[in-house]
Amino acid sequence: MPLSANNPSIKTWLNVPEHSDFPIQNIPFGVFLTRDDIITIGTRIGDTAIDLGALHQLGYFEGIELTDDIFLQDSLNDFIADGRKTWRLVRNRISDIFNQDNPKLRDNPEHKEKILFGLDEIEMQLPVDVGDYTDFYASKEHATNVGSLFRDPENALLPNWLHIPIGYHGRSSSIVPSGTPIYRPNGQSAPKDGGSPGFGPSKLLDFELEMAFITTAANDLGKTISINEASEYIFGLVLFNDWSARDIQAWEYIPLGPFLGKNFASTISPWIVTLDALEPFRVAGPQQNPVPLPYLQQTGAQNYDISLEANIMPENGNESLVCRSNFKYMYWSMAQQLAHHTVNGCNLRSGDMMGSGTISGPTPDSYGSMLELSWRGQKPIPLNDGSTRTFIQDGDTVIMRAYSQNDQIRIGFGECTGKILPARQLEF
Ligand code: CA
Repeated sequence: MPLSANNPSIKTWLNVPEHSDFPIQNIPFGVFLTRDDIITIGTRIGDTAIDLGALHQLGYFEGIELTDDIFLQDSLNDFIADGRKTWRLVRNRISDIFNQDNPKLRDNPEHKEKILFGLDEIEMQLPVDVGDYTDFYASKEHATNVGSLFRDPENALLPNWLHIPIGYHGRSSSIVPSGTPIYRPNGQSAPKDGGSPGFGPSKLLDFELEMAFITTAANDLGKTISINEASEYIFGLVLFNDWSARDIQAWEYIPLGPFLGKNFASTISPWIVTLDALEPFRVAGPQQNPVPLPYLQQTGAQNYDISLEANIMPENGNESLVCRSNFKYMYWSMAQQLAHHTVNGCNLRSGDMMGSGTISGPTPDSYGSMLELSWRGQKPIPLNDGSTRTFIQDGDTVIMRAYSQNDQIRIGFGECTGKILPARQLEF
């Protein structure tokens, strides 16, 4: 099926600001509440939100096999379960409806009134009901930095790392949409000088700059997904801030891995950008040495060139850029992650989310967490207002952005933001 929606020469009759993340070639999917408090699945072109439920009711998807209520839902799970052929038909049709040469909706003010919304008239929700969330650890630079900081700089990368896309099962209940405030977590930290463990608000609160991909139902329990078909089951991606409390993490993670230092919150950008929209930005990943086992051997360009940034904005202050990275640095691709995840017969469902792990680049200003940027507090990071940060303070807002750009188009993700509130008082 042709990706006609990707044609960079298509122009839309909607207004699209210059440098928008959402030209007509993007067509992401999300869920929002309208001004009438109705929840619907939608897309976005420029700064206009488009109610796909209303478009469908008014007959604009005629000829595409869709159930009547497919867009009148509070999550994209059922639509994602319809599979890649349907995603492509719908995305191509939306491109067609908003093409500047198509008068059908353009010249119908009554329909436009029902279908189009300003961004200030809607409230973005979580786009999917995340069944299972898996977090990988797929950036070699990040794994090397964390290994150096938490264990031993001489043996920073453990021997399994170059053979296995390392991951763990996270928690989906605390995944929240961009803009949701986050309370600083309370928890235990390592004892000092052999005494009792510390307890209280985390002192080493951090962000993790990640991308996450969302899958469709892929395989029955006991079956596997081969690496060559893996990308057929990836619906799209969001920007992902996997908040982390480093002091809680460092004390609890042996021997079973991350737990309360990780599961208090993860923030996602609310628009899922489809893998199809990112097709023009495929690039080869890093050379893999040693060569992975056969089930992880891939051909062709399997990484994506997506520029990433993280900013810190203090209470009543301005943003300061603290990190610039790129999704293309990932050592293990999404296809390898998915093939590995199912090689034992573990089944993937529609709406499952896979975090990439922190995406750190090769240079110190491209590290994707404060743990690495400040080298565990040894190197304070200057902000524009003259203050410095080693970790995230109360009142700080972390703002992440991501986009792909070539000389013809820019496909972006918008923002992924979260403000840190003081820890809740606990009573015993
Ligand atoms: Ca993570």
